[in-house]
Amino acid sequence: MDRKKRILEILKEKNEVTAKELANLFKVSEMTIYRDIKQLEKTGEIIRKHGSILLNTKENKDSKTVDTCPICEKAITRAHPYKIVIEGKKTLEACCEHCGFLLHQKYEDKEVSAITYDFITENPITAFNAYFVVGSDAQPCCSPSVIPFSSKEMAEKFAKGFGGKVLNFIDAYNEIVNSMNLNLKSCCSNNVQSIKLSDIKK
Ligand SMILES: [Zn+2]
Ligand SMILES: [Zn+2]
Repeated sequence: MDRKKRILEILKEKNEVTAKELANLFKVSEMTIYRDIKQLEKTGEIIRKHGSILLNTKENKDSKTVDTCPICEKAITRAHPYKIVIEGKKTLEACCEHCGFLLHQKYEDKEVSAITYDFITENPITAFNAYFVVGSDAQPCCSPSVIPFSSKEMAEKFAKGFGGKVLNFIDAYNEIVNSMNLNLKSCCSNNVQSIKLSDIKK
């Protein structure tokens, strides 16, 4: 049986595999697997989602647990989304730092680690040690935008050009959480939040 057929057989059993797993299984390079996958994708037999390969079924298509932002439901398109790990177990990804902070808010009483990526170098940084430019004119995703840097100098340089405030994690976090609590409208253009009027009157 050729490899592509076998990949489909495997998917029928497992529902979800990664290219790496397939490469190990067939003892070929991941590049070779990607070539197979590309063809299977073209013929509409499989789909790819957040690094996994799935059969192209309605169910798999509709499931959008991981690759949309849990806060604003935008598709996560960034190569390095903001990542939070809750109690060392559950990993969640947000479309950007802005939504990442709002995600933190949901787990305020839990032990959480967070990884972000320097805006210029794209190196990973612990979010708690990063400097953030909040509310600049650069709006790569949700507004007010939050742009991470590993050094304060870089952040200040950026803010000079694009405006915004340079803040450490906790100040940036508070800034976003407070501004979003005041703004009842959602930050994200493609998602209009509905609210209960009774909640506003409280
Ligand atoms: Zn979002
Ligand atoms: Zn966003």
